[in-house]
Amino acid sequence: MIIVASDAHLQHNPPHEFLDGALIPIYETPERVAIIRAALERAAIGPIVEPRVFGIEPVRMVHDDTYLTYLETIYNRWIVAGGAPEAVIPGTLAVRWMSQPHDHPLAAPGYYTFDTCAPIVAGTYAAARAAADIALTGAELLLTGHRFAYALCRPPGHHAGRDLCGGYCFLNNAAIAAEYLVRSAPGFTCAILDIDFHHGNGTQQIFYERSDVLFVSIHASPSYQYPFFLGYADERGAGAGEGYNFNLPLDMGVADREYLTALDQALQAIADFSPRVLIISAGFDTFAGDPVAAHGGGFALSAAVYPQIGRRIAALHLPVLVIQEGGYAIEALGDNVVALLQGLEE
Ligand SMILES: [Zn+2]
Repeated sequence: MIIVASDAHLQHNPPHEFLDGALIPIYETPERVAIIRAALERAAIGPIVEPRVFGIEPVRMVHDDTYLTYLETIYNRWIVAGGAPEAVIPGTLAVRWMSQPHDHPLAAPGYYTFDTCAPIVAGTYAAARAAADIALTGAELLLTGHRFAYALCRPPGHHAGRDLCGGYCFLNNAAIAAEYLVRSAPGFTCAILDIDFHHGNGTQQIFYERSDVLFVSIHASPSYQYPFFLGYADERGAGAGEGYNFNLPLDMGVADREYLTALDQALQAIADFSPRVLIISAGFDTFAGDPVAAHGGGFALSAAVYPQIGRRIAALHLPVLVIQEGGYAIEALGDNVVALLQGLEE
């Protein structure tokens, strides 16, 4: 198992988020990476390498140019226009019949963001680009013959759409890696299995009309959980992508056995698709007591489930790139990541 990580994420350190009507210290902190990295080193999972710098092109294959320019420039423009220096958080959102594109620095955040949980600070764009490079480096490791790689990405990515950030996510690391992989050779196919507690709405949007990237997501039902407005079982893909999007929404309080049953369904769909490689959008907010999942109601998975998830994924006998997404139960996060990776390699 090769681990790709860097310290570039430290530049993204917003002080707060606006969650369920309260301005609170942000859950998605640099400490998460420090804890995961310490656990990986303690367990001697494998060598830790720095990412290669890929440049903007592989990112442009997934995200719109206007959105990338927005992410790169908004913090300074926001400050000049009188926005709060702590972080860019939209006040007015472009939704339904009020959705004209807008570039004013105090309005653009409402056009390019779908919630109040993706605050932007001066170093956000650089950190997000570094996270994309981490994912791309992991993808390249698979192409050069490695069976497993783990991309310790922060900020996470699976909520980010083509031109929309939200839910701590700015650039969709898993989608950028998947796009890079399928472009590596004609006929190359990739499956993305999203096991974060929350639906990977951004990843779904990006590949919804595609048949070369299968998207399978196991998550809390949007009937009671974020992101609420997408992630239902009847979203099956469209056009050429019809049948290549598979959502498995689960009830509140789901425990290990029920979760593993859903996982087996997901893995069967991936086996039927028979991709060249598999990307795991790995969130650990499925763990019992996760404080973000507790907003609305969480799952009840035990630490013992993560090696089992890894073992069952490995039984597909595919090259696997694990990309870090969410997980906020800090005291258990490092051990749960290690457990998943060890299960893969057993
Ligand atoms: Zn999550």
